[in-house]
Amino acid sequence: GATTKEQCLSSGKLMILTGPSGVGKGTLMRTLLQRHPELYYSVSATTRAPRSGESDGINYYFVSRTRFEQLVANGEFLEWAEFAGNYYGTPRQPVLEKVNSGKTVLLEIELDGARQVRTSFPQAISIFILPPSLGELEKRIRSRNQDSEDAIARRLILAQDEIKAADEFDIQIVNDDFETALCSLEKAIFG
Ligand code: 5GP
Repeated sequence: GATTKEQCLSSGKLMILTGPSGVGKGTLMRTLLQRHPELYYSVSATTRAPRSGESDGINYYFVSRTRFEQLVANGEFLEWAEFAGNYYGTPRQPVLEKVNSGKTVLLEIELDGARQVRTSFPQAISIFILPPSLGELEKRIRSRNQDSEDAIARRLILAQDEIKAADEFDIQIVNDDFETALCSLEKAIFG
């Protein structure tokens, strides 16, 4: 993916939220956005099929692999990565626009992409969300009930690796009690 140095952030904050799939990043993010509508959530593009209840342009921009590869070739992504057999990427233009206009922008992305953004934007604030345990993480992935056994197994193997990288990031938050985790997240964003 892209690792070129971007220009200095003028005013807005760029927040990177990462952590293993199933850790509850999505739910934390949704609640945060409901409480603080002034925050800007970056909608990613993905080649993954929509899960039930997901819609195009809200959860993700759902695109074909060919389209995704075109977007990569055109330099349209701030970062992108392959995760569990699918591509995911952050559209560059809207993020730069919002940050430059002073907004706080939230990226909810996996480890590889988070590393890319940290390299391009050393000023970004990066947060790693940890599960209370691997057993609990498996329970959460299963209770989502939308992934095949195969996908669950792949995500669990990836999770164990991702967790090892937690201390590369500025802030670590354990998502055990939801309200406590949310409160820590608010502190990280609003100081
Ligand atoms: P899911 O398929 O469960 O929605 O997402 C799988 C993983 O991809 C999650 O860890 C999610 O945070 C991550 N992800 C979502 N959008 C992006 C993106 O634009 N870039 C990267 N690198 N990861 C993403």
